[in-house]
Amino acid sequence: MQNSIELLYQKFKECHHVSTDSRASQDQSMFFALNGPNFKGAGFAKTALEKGARYAVVDDPSMAADNVFVVDDTLVALQELARYHRKQLAIPVIGITGSNGKTTTKELIYAVLSQKFNTLYTQGNLNNHIGVPLTLLRIKPEHEMAIIEMGANHIGEIELLCTIALPTHGLITNIGKAHLEGFGSLEGVARGKSELYVHLHKTGGTVFINTKNEHLVRMSRLIESKVTYPAPSDFYHSELLEASPYVVYRDEENNKVETQLVGSYNYENMAAAACIGKYFGVPLAKANAAIAGYAPVNNRSQVLTKGSNTIILDAYNANPTSMAAAVRNFGSMAAPKKVVILGDMFEMGTESASEHKLLGEVVAEQNFDYVLLCGKDMKYGAKVNKDFLYFETKPELQVWLQENKISESYILIKGSRGMGLETLVEVF
Ligand code: ATP
Ligand code: MG
Repeated sequence: MQNSIELLYQKFKECHHVSTDSRASQDQSMFFALNGPNFKGAGFAKTALEKGARYAVVDDPSMAADNVFVVDDTLVALQELARYHRKQLAIPVIGITGSNGKTTTKELIYAVLSQKFNTLYTQGNLNNHIGVPLTLLRIKPEHEMAIIEMGANHIGEIELLCTIALPTHGLITNIGKAHLEGFGSLEGVARGKSELYVHLHKTGGTVFINTKNEHLVRMSRLIESKVTYPAPSDFYHSELLEASPYVVYRDEENNKVETQLVGSYNYENMAAAACIGKYFGVPLAKANAAIAGYAPVNNRSQVLTKGSNTIILDAYNANPTSMAAAVRNFGSMAAPKKVVILGDMFEMGTESASEHKLLGEVVAEQNFDYVLLCGKDMKYGAKVNKDFLYFETKPELQVWLQENKISESYILIKGSRGMGLETLVEVF
């Protein structure tokens, strides 16, 4: 296999990019015909070659040709090629995992590091066993630094991604109740995420630690090379001033940084970026400007003004930890009237009923003018308080919102991706 990976690597170097989607541009690409649950990728290789791919990598020996490379398993070949490429590079690679805030933190770190370095980073959410190799294969000789988001929904996944990306530095944003279906429990999540720490411990890498998170402090006990933020910290120290709705914090030189992100949880993501910026020598003023200039995209904690309402749209995803953080943060905001609209949290497995109920209890601790809960399992949350309004489906909720015009309010909208709650914004 090693020989064939070297050969494949020679061919990869003749190409401009790697593609796994025959519908995308193939100009001078190396096309990997990955198999899906219901399709054989090899069938798409011909289309890719017709569209300009320089080579296709397939698992069907009958297709062998000068521009078709046959391997046993196209996914394994993609991962091995990425690992081989990574090994040729002598740049810092920062691996980021965690239950919530990976993408936001990655983008903030990119905003900061790109002030000084030619930095490559994961596009969007390409953070799995396919996305990580594809990201690594985008690293060119001119890149000085890479930031790789690593996602996981079961044990062993981060370990695999580490053997491909070989991170030299790493960050776990937090440990929370996400993907419980695959991890089984919070301990399972912690074990899964800690695979990044284990890798860095074994290879002598450096870990950036959020000292506000006791799980992370505990899990990182054995690691020698540690850099801490935001408080207590002997390296990068900052302090949250307010989050109502936008985060304002004081950096370690007493500068006030006004940001475009909501939620005290996002303050921790920003502190991570500031800490890493300091570690790699980005001047503080440039790091602050990069953080202040970062605006979230894709329905992640976006603030929108609609008529007399201010909407905090956080409909990108949801799990018990991020829901509780968002609800508590919203509860602490100063606003004339507050409305929360929450949709089901998916992938909760057998914990679903109890987790929705627990969320209902978190909501009940706060003081909201209206609580609107929507989705099959939100009925368990709705039982907590008779004043909560429950809608089994989104259309029913939409009808209620049309009939009961909400005005002059702050409105938090959050639910799992599959709920698609962002479409509710049109009603306001
Ligand atoms: P995914 O698993 O989909 O890749 P992610 O970990 O990349 O998610 P983001 O996309 O950055 O996370 O953020 C998704 C949502 O998670 C945000 O909109 C916010 O509600 C919540 N969130 C972000 N950061 C934190 C944090 N540090 N703690 C708790 N919740 C957070
Ligand atoms: Mg992400």
